[in-house]
Amino acid sequence: MIEFTDVTKRFSDGTVAIDRLTLKLLPGKLTAIIGPSGCGKTTLMKMINRLEEPTNGKVEIDGEDVKTKSAVDLRRSIGYVIQRIGLFPHMTIEKNAGLVPSLQGWSKEKKRQRIEELMTLVGLDPAIFLNRYPLELSGGQQQRVGVVRALASDPNILLMDEPFSALDPLSREQLQMEMKDLQQRIHKTIVFVTHDMDEALRIADCIVVMRSGKIEQVGTPDEIIHSPANDFVRQFIGSER
Ligand code: ATP
Repeated sequence: MIEFTDVTKRFSDGTVAIDRLTLKLLPGKLTAIIGPSGCGKTTLMKMINRLEEPTNGKVEIDGEDVKTKSAVDLRRSIGYVIQRIGLFPHMTIEKNAGLVPSLQGWSKEKKRQRIEELMTLVGLDPAIFLNRYPLELSGGQQQRVGVVRALASDPNILLMDEPFSALDPLSREQLQMEMKDLQQRIHKTIVFVTHDMDEALRIADCIVVMRSGKIEQVGTPDEIIHSPANDFVRQFIGSER
């Protein structure tokens, strides 16, 4: 369980990105965080792997304050996929995907087996793609490698920040469904930031709707559609769909 308790994040210029927010994210579920641009989605997620530190309050994973863990250990144990996944162009897909396991001292065989397994899961044939370089892959295929890389060291938590937003609608929908399928098979705790309501409704178990650093509603897709907590949520669903 990932738990935020009374968390505030104030940047040095005075911007309050997160405002006394309390939230529990259930293990083994796919939670989508949605809300208008600038409402604090990315900042909230970055506090889970200590890319940002709260100004006040605490963030815990399974009852342990993330502050008690080294940021390096934490980032190695939490998968992170962002829109620009930043594969190293001079490394093959196998090398790119195996970066964290290499740092953790996995044997070459164990690494390759794991990467082949994950590539197959996300629909990339290892026989074709393992030895290619990133620029020889389409944008959607590179995003899939990003997912493989994030999952390669078998983290319990996967953070995804608008990972599919640069893709064409078809690849985007395909990857969304693959993520959902993957989630159902491997039961990771996935936190997914998006400003796309349809994406959230399609794949999330739980949706957190944010506005101005605060939470407007937490609920299942069904609850958000059929029982919006207030006018803001109602309008946000309406305008985004
Ligand atoms: P988007 O959907 O546009 O990506 P978001 O909901 O993810 O937005 P954040 O990136 O978390 O929003 O930003 C929340 C607020 O904090 C915004 O007002 C943003 O300008 C501000 N902010 C983010 N990072 C910094 C920073 N390093 N210094 C100052 N303000 C920041």
